[in-house]
Amino acid sequence: MIEKRILSKEVSLRIGQKVKLAGWVDVRRDHGKIIFIDLRDKEGLTQLVFLPENKELYEKATSLRPEWVVLVEGEVKARPKGMINPKIATGEIEIAVENLEILSEAKTPPFDINTDGSQISEDKRLKFRYLDLRRERLKNNLILRDKVIQFMRQWLGKEDFIEIETPILTKSTPEGARDYIVPSRLEPGKFYALPQSPQQYKQLLMVAGFEKYFQIARCFRDEDTRGDRQPEFTQLDLETSFMSQEEILDLIERLYADIVKNISPDKKFTQTPFPRISYKEAMEKYGTDKPDLRKDKNDPNELAFCFIVDFPMFEWREEEKRWDAVHHPFTRPQSEDIEEIKECPEKIMGFQYDFVCNGYEIGGGSLRTYRPEILEAVFEVMGHKKEQIREKFGHLLEAFSYGVPPHGGIAPGIDRFVMILAGEPNIREVIAFPKTGDGRDLMMIAPSEVDEKQLKELHLKILSNEK
Ligand code: ASP
Repeated sequence: MIEKRILSKEVSLRIGQKVKLAGWVDVRRDHGKIIFIDLRDKEGLTQLVFLPENKELYEKATSLRPEWVVLVEGEVKARPKGMINPKIATGEIEIAVENLEILSEAKTPPFDINTDGSQISEDKRLKFRYLDLRRERLKNNLILRDKVIQFMRQWLGKEDFIEIETPILTKSTPEGARDYIVPSRLEPGKFYALPQSPQQYKQLLMVAGFEKYFQIARCFRDEDTRGDRQPEFTQLDLETSFMSQEEILDLIERLYADIVKNISPDKKFTQTPFPRISYKEAMEKYGTDKPDLRKDKNDPNELAFCFIVDFPMFEWREEEKRWDAVHHPFTRPQSEDIEEIKECPEKIMGFQYDFVCNGYEIGGGSLRTYRPEILEAVFEVMGHKKEQIREKFGHLLEAFSYGVPPHGGIAPGIDRFVMILAGEPNIREVIAFPKTGDGRDLMMIAPSEVDEKQLKELHLKILSNEK
């Protein structure tokens, strides 16, 4: 048991006192007869000093190697003037060590962890992610991520939102991607789907009367390798009742403006209020629905937020020869004329909005259809037969027959936003344990085979493992 250990951030205030510190050997420097060790803990570095006078202790210090874990006791001393290091928080002090306990030894790490890591192959970094995370840059990214999430929770709490968890084992929700499915042991031949988002649950929470819901939600989408994506990612999932589109956009604008002002005050907004640009105007003017509106694209501190609004409700899928929802089928069409929706889907606009920052889509949302007959018409346009609609979405249609409030929401992604704040080139740098572009976890080695016994229990047979 280690008692009364203090962290490096407290040590500077204790000149003249005896303290106990624990952590990793960061670097060892031998200067003539004196051994200096930089001890690293979660808050930073502290310099330890070993003098040859105490022979036994000195010998022990001689054996120390990088990444060994040690516990030391000693006196905090002001450093001599010329030895002050203004670059670190504890640069004015050092510990004259009196006791050293080696808690564990370490093999030589497979790569240097004192650099920013960008020169090291990513496969290696992912395989030894627990070592990669010792790196200052990655540690700071995760601290930043935590600050953003904590801030969101508190801010939304003050706005009367409550956080509610929704299931991970659930049923397919159409968000336009393939589902990850989980076989049921108790019901042979049946499967759960992992949620592509909590979309239907959050709408059902509105039927339940919560009015203001949010969740830091994990979403799962089995998509082909395309750019900087992850099979699982995190969203700030949010839903409200009785709010207009503009009220939802205003809420998100205030939240994000406050996050930036409080957590990254060195960042500047290109424009406030964040512009609302119609999809048509964005396409005509910028040729994209996620325009990068920064004035100076070389400025790492510029944030250009905007909302893209008024998207078409449907788009034609030539390969499948059918209409699909641009956002998702729960989006409310801007027309309530069922005939028009069915006859001229190409003309129908949706109450859909995207949240864009520096050319990245960082979130999307919509007002939802709450009239069952319109929802059915939308599904029909998308090529679903009446019976299929009942089978797949009967629960939602039924729920809507018990008093449903007009509702709408949004789901800004956490990973991409933190990536932009941190100035990182991809989202893997701000996720503790990301997967490779092709969905593998190189550290845990997943996906992997399972035992024959497990397959049997699940009533499954592998017919082929060819790709
Ligand atoms: N469920 C949507 C998504 O994940 C967001 C929303 O409509 O609230 O993109």
